[in-house]
Amino acid sequence: MRVKILGSAAGGGFPQWNCACPNCRAVRSGAFQGKPRTQTQVAITQDSRRWFLLGASPDLRAQIEATPELHPRAPGRGESPRQSPIAGAVLANADVDHVLGLLLLRELQPLRIHSTASIRRILREGNSMFGMLERVANQASWTDFAPGEPFPLLGPDEEDSGIRCRALSLGTHFPAYVSAERLSQLSQSKLDQSQLNPQESSLGLLIESASGKRLAFMPAVPEINAALLHELDSADLLLFDGTFWSDDELIRTQGSGSTAQQMGHVPVSSPEGSLQKLAGLRLPRKIYLHINNTNPMLNEANPEHRQVRDAGWEIAEDGCQFDL
Ligand SMILES: [Zn+2]
Repeated sequence: MRVKILGSAAGGGFPQWNCACPNCRAVRSGAFQGKPRTQTQVAITQDSRRWFLLGASPDLRAQIEATPELHPRAPGRGESPRQSPIAGAVLANADVDHVLGLLLLRELQPLRIHSTASIRRILREGNSMFGMLERVANQASWTDFAPGEPFPLLGPDEEDSGIRCRALSLGTHFPAYVSAERLSQLSQSKLDQSQLNPQESSLGLLIESASGKRLAFMPAVPEINAALLHELDSADLLLFDGTFWSDDELIRTQGSGSTAQQMGHVPVSSPEGSLQKLAGLRLPRKIYLHINNTNPMLNEANPEHRQVRDAGWEIAEDGCQFDL
C-alpha cells in the first residue's frame, strides 16, 4: 500500500490567509527555515490504479494537480474524459477542513464515500450544497461504517480495493456549524431512524494493507489513553495530531481563543503531550501531521523542531510518501 501526504497543515494551511503570527510572517518574507504547507490530505492505494482519499481538504484541487499519480488517465476510444484514479474517500469527521474538498469533486465522477451515518446525515441532510454530488445516478455512493467494525474500502462499483479500515471513536463533538436545533431535527428525521451518535463524530482510522501492514491516521486526538496506546502499538506507520505545540498556543499568539484541549487536540509538548505519552511506542514510524501555522516546531531553526526530531519523530511535509 502506498501512502501519500498531499497536505500536512491544520485548517487554514501555512501560511494562513489572515494570520500574521511570527511563523506566517517569516514564511511570507522568505526568511523562514522550513516549508509552507497545504491543509491536511492523505491519499492511499493498494494497486497504484485506484486511490482513496482520507478526508477531502479545501486544497484538494491544487493537491491533485501537484500529484501526477492522481491525474486523470487518457480516455480510451469513445470513453468519457472523466478518468480520475480517485475511487473514493473515507471521512474521519465532518469538519469544514476535512470535507469541503468533496464539493471540489462534483464534476460527475463516480465516487464512493465511506462515513459514519451521523457524518453522512450532517452533510447530506443538513447541507443542501452536497446535493451537487448526487445530480446523476452513479455519482457519489455513500456507505456507512460504525466505529470499531472493520470494513473494506470499495470503489464506486463496489469493487474491493484489498484495503481494510477500522475507525476508532476519539471525540464526541460535532462541528460548530451543526446547530443544536439541527442536531435535534436530524435525530428526529423520518428518513433514517438512527439517532445522531456523538461517538461517530470524530474518528481515528486504522487502515490495513492487503499484506497486513497498518497505517494509523489520527489527525485530531483529544486524549491519549491506554486503549489508544494499545491500538497504536501495532501500527507500522503513525500519522498523528501535531496541531499545537502547547496547550495555550493560540491564546498566546492571538491574545484570546481556545486551548488545544478545548479544540480537541492533545498538544505535542508537556507531560500530558504526545511526545511524552507516545515515547514508548516501538514499532511505528512516527510522523506528526495536521500542524497548525502557529506551531514552533515548523521552524527548522527552533529548539522545538530539534526536540521532536531527536525523539525519533518526523514532521510531515506536503508530497512525502511511504510504502507499507
Ligand atoms: Zn500564523
